[in-house]
Amino acid sequence: MKKVVVIGSGFAGLSAACNLAADGFDVTVLEKNTTPGGRARQYSEQGFVFDMGPSWYWMPDVFEQFFARFGKKAADYYHLVRLDPSYTVHFGPGDRMDVPAGMPELEAMFERYEPGSTANLRKFLAEAEYKYRVGMNEFVQKPSHSILEFADMRIAASLFRLQMFTSMSRHVRQLFKNEKLIKLLEFPVLFLGATPENTPALYSLMNYADMALGTWYPMGGMYKIVEGMVSLATELGVKIELDQEVRHIVAPNGSARSVRTQDGREYPADVVVGAADYHHIDSKLLNPGKRNYSDRYWETRTMAPSSLLFYVGVNKRLHGLHHHNLFFDEDFGRHAREIYDTPKWPEKPLFYVSAPSQTDPSVAPDGCENLFILIPVAPGLQDTPEIREHYYNLVMGRLEKLTGQQIEPSVVYRRSFAHADFVSDYHAFKGNAYGLANTLLQTAFLKPKLRNKHIKNLFYTGQLTVPGPGVPPSIISGQVVAREVKKVSGWKVSG
Ligand SMILES: Cc1cc2nc3c(=O)[nH]c(=O)nc-3n(C[C@H](O)[C@H](O)[C@H](O)COP(=O)(O)OP(=O)(O)OC[C@H]3O[C@@H](n4cnc5c(N)ncnc54)[C@H](O)[C@@H]3O)c2cc1C
Repeated sequence: MKKVVVIGSGFAGLSAACNLAADGFDVTVLEKNTTPGGRARQYSEQGFVFDMGPSWYWMPDVFEQFFARFGKKAADYYHLVRLDPSYTVHFGPGDRMDVPAGMPELEAMFERYEPGSTANLRKFLAEAEYKYRVGMNEFVQKPSHSILEFADMRIAASLFRLQMFTSMSRHVRQLFKNEKLIKLLEFPVLFLGATPENTPALYSLMNYADMALGTWYPMGGMYKIVEGMVSLATELGVKIELDQEVRHIVAPNGSARSVRTQDGREYPADVVVGAADYHHIDSKLLNPGKRNYSDRYWETRTMAPSSLLFYVGVNKRLHGLHHHNLFFDEDFGRHAREIYDTPKWPEKPLFYVSAPSQTDPSVAPDGCENLFILIPVAPGLQDTPEIREHYYNLVMGRLEKLTGQQIEPSVVYRRSFAHADFVSDYHAFKGNAYGLANTLLQTAFLKPKLRNKHIKNLFYTGQLTVPGPGVPPSIISGQVVAREVKKVSGWKVSG
């Protein structure tokens, strides 16, 4: 059996590993941390169970398709519930929008904010559905080696309809006038790491994912997906070695032969799949001259934001919060400029709070609340304990004011996580939280390539290559790279 070593056990690494094992490869995953899951790790403290990264379960079809390839269903590994309201947007004290899961209720809500907007909402979502179908069935599955993959007449003909060259911001404003609805419709592209002005309107497909496919939650937390994928991988014969940080890819004569870990162990490999951050694999694990991209290339990329996170345990139940809560009570334009144009710590940031204990009693002790607070910030900023403390107080003060209750005196546990932790825990370039932004010039064949140019059996996968950031795209990235590995001529494997 051909040996594959996968570096990193995030969603992309686990997805690649499962697919390659099912294709007949002998797969070993090497992970530097002591738990698998990468940015989606979980930890427990004082009875609180914190998902460390992703909290939104969108695009359930992608998860089902992943498990279906192995004759399984997501339900074989975890119990999903659909959230209703899907989420809440806070615009100011006492001014909040609960976004309902059902379509008739959603249309009624649009009518309240902008009378007569139902027709435009239907048009907007019909277009978004088309983009979702084409995007998910055609675009994201492509290895994107070259523009020629997109030269297919059917795709070329659809480009206009896909609105690649209109911005999301313009698209939304053509159909809606109410500022709150505009904010609501622009919010999902923030997952893609760029502003609505710099994101192609193609990505209104995210609104279809949001409003039509719904917001879901795996009981027990997002880590249940990781546990499910780890257990599937194990069933398929994948070996997962934790606490094994890869320090070097041994690749004499243009071919990777093995990888070496921190304690000097050497793992022989016929194929290496780099599923850690692309920049780290490319610039730190290879001999000079074997990299795909220079330092200058990376310096000129638009990274998705980093995040300042707080994991907070509160010893009472809170009101005025649902599972997902977006705090859009300050000027988004200004915060966006402080992330992208003149990177600095934001004066008045928008922020997000997840309170999974609103849905799931298992993530907090009885009568307590589990809070995950996220402030998007520019990557590469200086990150000090004083700065973290300042933002904790700032956000806690706003949270108390906007929900009309005292929270801080009841906080019994808290931990912060920001740039320095993203670098030390994941080797994240500039401490990015979710990879490269999906701007037009960083989409598809314009993203860092799946294959190394100099080492024929070294591949890359994960949120910094195609199709992009997010849990579903990372899972897809692992599938795409597995197909590429299999395609390389001369490697006869079963399946
Ligand atoms: C705070 C936050 C919130 C997010 N929210 C959402 C959300 O709500 N919904 C959503 O869909 N997405 C969300 N995302 C994005 C999503 O979590 C990521 O896109 C996805 O998890 C990335 O998976 P990955 O496999 O590419 O990378 P990672 O998860 O980073 O996995 C890479 C792995 O490689 C390991 N590694 C690094 N270097 C080495 C080495 N030298 N040797 C061995 N192992 C190594 C790392 O430890 C890590 O485990 C969020 C991300 C963050 C950070």
